[in-house]
Parts: sequence; structure tokens; C-alpha cells
Amino acid sequence: MSILVCGGAGYIGSHTVKELIEKYEVVVLDNLSTGYSFLLDDRVNFVNGDLGDEAVLDRVFTENQIDAVFHFAANSLVGESVQNPLKYYGNNVQATITLLKKMVEHGVGKFIFSSTAATYGIPDTNLITEETATNPINPYGHSKLVIEQILASIAPVHDFQYIVLRYFNAAGAHVSGEIGESHDPETHLIPIILQHLLGQREKISVFGSDYETNDGTCVRDYIHVTDLANAHILAYEGLVDGTASNEIYNLGNGAGYSVKEVIEVCEQIAGKSAVIEYADRRAGDPAVLVASSAKIEKELGWKPQFKLDEIVDTAWKWHERIPMS
Ligand code: UDP
Repeated sequence: MSILVCGGAGYIGSHTVKELIEKYEVVVLDNLSTGYSFLLDDRVNFVNGDLGDEAVLDRVFTENQIDAVFHFAANSLVGESVQNPLKYYGNNVQATITLLKKMVEHGVGKFIFSSTAATYGIPDTNLITEETATNPINPYGHSKLVIEQILASIAPVHDFQYIVLRYFNAAGAHVSGEIGESHDPETHLIPIILQHLLGQREKISVFGSDYETNDGTCVRDYIHVTDLANAHILAYEGLVDGTASNEIYNLGNGAGYSVKEVIEVCEQIAGKSAVIEYADRRAGDPAVLVASSAKIEKELGWKPQFKLDEIVDTAWKWHERIPMS
């Protein structure tokens, strides 16, 4: 039996494959629209194809004995989703429905879904649990919440079980330095800061300095990509052994850092000072997003291993090594 990883050539997908391949057979389906073949492990069975392509999915499910699907393939930029909502509903909702339809048709009944803290919108609490109300304020968060709701409708009527993982801010690189975060264009805070500190960008724009936070900049909960990867494997094994079924789990460190604080940590690790400019708020950004991950710690024994300075340290080693992404 194999695990199908949709989006396995992307940032979080490739780090999950790296852990998964040590224990399981892995098939990766990716159209390389935002992923990179250089992030793919040699041992995977790679299919270059589109998630929304029924013929490709039929082929993958017929030619391989797939036990479970890990679904990372999505567009994930808050700002872009505000500018181009139909792209997000097309790629994140429509294509996922095609995937789910094909899973049901082929009798594949285990699904691990990459969701997001953006489903919560502007939370009414400082520490977000899975019980916190979901009111997304951007199409990205909404597109993920729609799929979560669709999953809840499918599970009772088909032989189908799922785990939803709501990531907070994925960051860092594999400790080996072999793979890391590569987006083109890059929009994420930590790689942008590190590229600037490596002389690849003139300055850092801080989006908003008048939020209701200690220093006026947005607060986020940064979680190492390998901690996320390991949560997927625990979720899958939870489905297999019956420990967990049809559950939603937050994945974060439970610690919030402002944009300014993240810049300071990066400066310390790089041993250089950054040039900062204060810019307008970015559309769709809530002020504070910090996770309680108590539920997955209690139910599946997941515990993040990396704190912010270690996250930045692994990212720095990767960015130092690769040419500008
Ligand atoms: N951010 C920023 N400047 C940048 C990129 C990001 O000030 O060049 C801020 C962004 O507004 C947010 C935080 O950094 O408050 C994290 O943004 P990122 O895009 O990394 O992740 P997101 O929270 O959108 O998933």
C-alpha cells in the first residue's frame, strides 16, 4: 500500500515526504506550478499532473494501491486570494472536490487535509483552540473552510475518514539543509527577511505598524515544517489504528511573535542588521494568530520540537546555501 501525496513537491509536502518515505511507499502528484522537482526525494513515484484532472487521478488510483491521501496541493497566499478569489476557489475547492470524488469512486477512504489558521478570521481569543469560531476574512481561509465542511458531509455517508490539520505559520527548513522553503515570488516573512540579510533584497517592508499588539505589528505563531510533517504521519497512523477519526487539529507552537520580533531573531542569527520600511497593512491580515495545540498533543502525542530561533537557524542555513529562490 502507498500513500498519495498531492502537492508533494511543494514546501510542506516535500518535507512531509522526506519523513514519510522512511516508513512508507509514496506516490507524489504535483503539477509543479508552485512546487519544484529538486525538492522531491528520489525514492518517490512522481506523477506530474493536475489535481483537477480526472483521467490522471483515475490512472494514479488504478496503477497504485493507495491507502491514504495527504492533500497539500493548494494556493496559500492570503494577499493573492483577496486579489484573485476565483483562482483560490478553483484550485483549492473545485480541484479538491474532484480529488475527493475520485477517492470515493476508487474506494480510498483516508484523507489528511492541510488547512489553515486563516479559517479563524479575527479570533475572539488570544489562544485559538479548535472550538474557536471560524469566520475567515479572506478567500484563502474560506476556501479551506469549505473543504473542511465538505469532509464533514462525506464522512458519514461514504467509507471515508479524515483528519484536518490547521497550520499556523509554517517556517524553517529541513535540518539536513537539503530542502527548504522556495517560493517564486516569495511573500513569506522569514524567507524575505533572510534574503534581505543575505543582500538579495534592498529592504524589508513591514505591513502595518498600527495593529493592537505590543509593538503595533502582526503577531503570528511560527511552526517548523518538520514538526508539521510529523503531525501528518501521526494523523495517518491515528486513522489506521483508530485513535483518531474525523478530527480537526491546530498545529502551532503556542507562542506569538510580532513581525518586529521575528526580524530581531533573524538579525541575531545572521549577525547583521536589517533595513526596515513601514508600509500599509496587507489586505486580509488579522492582528494576532496564536494556536493552542493541546488537542493533538493530548490525543496523538504530537509535540513541536523547534522554537523560533531554531526555526530561523534551519531556514538561514538553507537560504545561505541556495541561490536566490
Ligand atoms: N509580513 C510583513 N512583510 C513581508 C511579509 C510578511 O510584514 O514582507 C507580515 C504579514 O503581514 C504577516 C506576517 O508577516 O503579518 C506573516 O506573513 P506571512 O506572509 O509570512 O504568512 P501568513 O501569516 O500570511 O500566512
